[in-house]
Amino acid sequence: MGVSPGRAVGPVVHLGSTVEEPARGRALAEGARVAEVARLRAAATRVAGELETRAAAARGEARSILMATALMARDPALLDPAVAAIADRGTAAPRAVWDAAAEVAQTLEALGGRIAERTADVRDVRDRIVAVLTGQVLGGVPERADPFVLVARDLAPADTATLDPATVVALVTEEGGPTSHTAIIARSLGIPAVVAATGALGIPEGTVVLVDGATGEVRRDPDAATVAAVAAEAAAARPARLAAPGATRDGHPVALLANIGDARGATAAAEAGAEGVGLFRSEFLFLDRTDAPGRAEQVEAYRAVFAAFPERKVVVRTLDAGADKPLPFLTADAEENPALGVRGLRTARRRPEVLDEQLAAIAEAAAAETAQVQVMAPMVATLEEAREVVARCRAVGLESAGIMIETPAAAIRADDLLAAVDFVSIGTNDLTQYTMAADRMIGELADLNDPWQPAVLQLIADVGAASQRTGTPVGVCGEAAADPLLAVVFVGLGVGSLSMTPRALSAVGEVLASVSRADCVRIAAAALAASTAADARAATASALGAISLG
Ligand code: PEP
Ligand code: MG
Repeated sequence: MGVSPGRAVGPVVHLGSTVEEPARGRALAEGARVAEVARLRAAATRVAGELETRAAAARGEARSILMATALMARDPALLDPAVAAIADRGTAAPRAVWDAAAEVAQTLEALGGRIAERTADVRDVRDRIVAVLTGQVLGGVPERADPFVLVARDLAPADTATLDPATVVALVTEEGGPTSHTAIIARSLGIPAVVAATGALGIPEGTVVLVDGATGEVRRDPDAATVAAVAAEAAAARPARLAAPGATRDGHPVALLANIGDARGATAAAEAGAEGVGLFRSEFLFLDRTDAPGRAEQVEAYRAVFAAFPERKVVVRTLDAGADKPLPFLTADAEENPALGVRGLRTARRRPEVLDEQLAAIAEAAAAETAQVQVMAPMVATLEEAREVVARCRAVGLESAGIMIETPAAAIRADDLLAAVDFVSIGTNDLTQYTMAADRMIGELADLNDPWQPAVLQLIADVGAASQRTGTPVGVCGEAAADPLLAVVFVGLGVGSLSMTPRALSAVGEVLASVSRADCVRIAAAALAASTAADARAATASALGAISLG
């Protein structure tokens, strides 16, 4: 499934590639064996030390996993047989630890159940020790001078956030869905990406592949003509700047805003012509942090974003931790269903001071810049929560306080909630996953995670109607806002602003400028009347096609 458009060609590099099985080789001379044992012990100690350092910096489940793996690197059950193989038979250290690990893994597997799951730790430790012994680099996003296509099972948000589009020309993952944060970040970086690509890990490193992030195609060994065509596309693919402020053909304004995660993104968004920021995902600043960031650091980070949009609107979302974006200092250690757990605004139940500190930092940064700062909270489900957000914002002098509509509960009770806040923004990514009860991270369920689903469109229509009744402005900031067809539908349903990855701004702006507000209302009615997602999309596309044909 293609989730970030664009085509790229490059050799495959696997994320955290595993090491090759070491050759058996000839037996070491007796005189060399003591030194080889010392080499093995030093490598194992180094691996254990590195894992312990990473564990100390982590929390919750990640910490326990890293601690358990570190223990394994010091475990005599693994090291003793390897030492014996070196000393008695002259086996080289990489091969000795490889064989010892195979035996430990076999024993664990025979025990079954949860113990058997630890074989993955054994292999991980084995690979790390062999990597140290043979001078290979393991783990994380590889750093290369030449461009490559990164292939992985999945990417942690912190990994994806640090990708360099100059070298990572495309992403292919076996897991993930269209609204996973991997997909979102890939889109914002403009890196073509394909997710849910079963079998991708089986493509050997170095194989040259063509990745089409629009169609989802991953093709091995593309022909020379295709490679040349892709290179030409890349040269021409500078995203077009938004030509004019968003409006329908008859002049009904629709603010076209950007989704960003940091100051760099804000600058890029301003360059792309965004009228402001509709979603500043503030948690992206702190994904790799183990402690809550201090006030001064936050103020500086927010000011840098506000400075990119003088006198323009910037909507800051308060920390949205949890589910696929764990923040160790905020989120619960282990939850059976993290998407339904203590995430978003709910983390303030346990740590209200973190929210208040963030709000105070936003207020301080807003006072020092000229951007029109608005603040909204994610994952609101009740009127009490909405009221609380407003009260906390007012307490630090923030004038515009809103909420995201991401839960069906909030959409169903839109009249009450909208009356209590200054504005709302529909997070279609989460609203879709919760309405359809389909985890947005699971590629297999992508057909359900589709904002065209009638149930999702109906809830958005209800929020739009509540906006007309209460006069509270409603925007959309989920990925759906970047789809030009859906943008038209949303405007017809009463949505007044659309916030998206900056690359999508000009395409959405162009389509909006081609229709009147009355067209949008009519098209939205047709989409809403459809009984399936496919019919809703088809009805919209054919209505728009008829308009463009005049
Ligand atoms: C959403 O859920 O639509 C949204 C914009 O928030 P996020 O994708 O960061 O969860
Ligand atoms: Mg969300």
